[in-house]
Amino acid sequence: MAEYNIAVIAGDGIGTEVVPEGIRALEAVGRKFDITFRWDEKDWSCERWKKTGRMMPEDALEGIAGHDAIFLGAVGWPGVPDHVSLWGLLIPIRRVFRQYINLRPVRLFEGVRSPLADRKPGDIDFMIVRENNEGEYSEIGGRLNAGTAEEVVVQESIFTRKGVDRVLRYAFDLAQSRGKKHLTSATKSNGIIHTMPFWDERFQAMAAEYPDIRTDQYHIDILTAHFVQHPDWFDVVVGSNLFGDILSDLGPAATGTIGIAPSANLNPEREHPSMFEPVHGSAPDIAGQGIANPIGQIWSGAMMLDHLGHANAARAIVTAIERLLADGGPRTRDMGGTASTREVGMALADLV
Ligand code: ATP
Ligand code: MG
Repeated sequence: MAEYNIAVIAGDGIGTEVVPEGIRALEAVGRKFDITFRWDEKDWSCERWKKTGRMMPEDALEGIAGHDAIFLGAVGWPGVPDHVSLWGLLIPIRRVFRQYINLRPVRLFEGVRSPLADRKPGDIDFMIVRENNEGEYSEIGGRLNAGTAEEVVVQESIFTRKGVDRVLRYAFDLAQSRGKKHLTSATKSNGIIHTMPFWDERFQAMAAEYPDIRTDQYHIDILTAHFVQHPDWFDVVVGSNLFGDILSDLGPAATGTIGIAPSANLNPEREHPSMFEPVHGSAPDIAGQGIANPIGQIWSGAMMLDHLGHANAARAIVTAIERLLADGGPRTRDMGGTASTREVGMALADLV
């Protein structure tokens, strides 16, 4: 029997509503596959920041460094500055634990209508690999002559050879492991003339090592157009921190709702815990109503199982999602239904 110690950070807003449903599905699949979870629940959130001035305690990360994984809902709340919620919790976890891969599957399920006309399941089924530790998300920069007519604002991006190579390596290996053997890279080398050509150069150098992988390179602007007009073109798409983030809201939107999209923040070397969370945020507009879609959280739980080495248990969860959607099972408002978060979570737990 396998046993895992999981840090649970439900966070804010609908994070606190969808995480229990993720746990319900994992408990259900655990009973079938003889996997035990010890849930170490943390109150790290904007609520905590309001009370203590910190999103999480000072020694928070040391306290979970030995855990097997982190299961996160969402953090962020109106009135709490993003540099508090993002830079006080999410970004430190991703960086301290060297979760340099952000993996985001995009898939149109049977029984779900895409806002893109005539798109069928099978047309949209790809993986986004987002660089998760460096790039455009940096604290380096500042304001000169603030508040005056001569104001100048500078924001630096950092692309290291090590950082670029390791995310590209992961993406090439992932493409290699999939049937289509096709990898697309997103840059903007005509406008951003130092970092982006460097990324292109490293991409081409690595492509030479993978002669059986078909590669494409697009500028981010036309790539977003292709995501809408030709989503069937893609298999694995790799991009920087910013471009990967943009693509991974656009991709899921094409599959009906961002409420179903999962993500894995991976430390591929397994020297530190990896973190699993839905792509969506805390959704203040619908928080507290019990109507959030729990599928993104539940599917993130499947990615966690996969990472922990339980591919069959992970597949059982994904199959349950497939069946729920294909058979017209309960669905939340974002998918055109009237079911509550809990009703969808219970139905899914019954199906695993
Ligand atoms: P973040 O900056 O944390 O990514 P965001 O600004 O992208 O957050 P979200 O919180 O993801 O915003 O919400 C975007 C929209 O999608 C909102 O209208 C929200 O209600 C909706 N939404 C997000 N997640 C869900 C969900 N699980 N179920 C239903 N609707 C959702
Ligand atoms: Mg977002």
